Amino acid sequence: MTTINVKTTHSNQMIDITADVRKAIRDSDTSDGLCIVYTPHTTAAITINENADPDVVTDMIDGLNSLGFKNLSFRHMEGNSESHLKSSLIGCSEQVIIESGSPVLGTWQGIYFCEFDGPRTRKVFIKII
Ligand code: ZN
Repeated sequence: MTTINVKTTHSNQMIDITADVRKAIRDSDTSDGLCIVYTPHTTAAITINENADPDVVTDMIDGLNSLGFKNLSFRHMEGNSESHLKSSLIGCSEQVIIESGSPVLGTWQGIYFCEFDGPRTRKVFIKII
């Protein structure tokens, strides 16, 4: 398993980790298989989406913020229930098919680490099967 550390700088942020995933696959010498990208945090997530236009991730964060979670009254004492909700909504992992030593991604797809309670230093685990 490969561990990467992601340092976030904002409360809500999406960071493209596609290059790290490609490197982990390359380093594993796996030609065909499956790659699992997983983050062990309850206020972060992993997703795959467009990496061509940087406005897309900004719009995604704005869209999540507009869902109105912040206006709900929560019981959780830590005060970050909105972050927990966003984490479960997006999900903490993605699977990518490996073919000919590369992740099978669409032309405009990138793999993102999503921060919902930053800034923090986070971990992402990459497991090649
Ligand atoms: Zn919490």
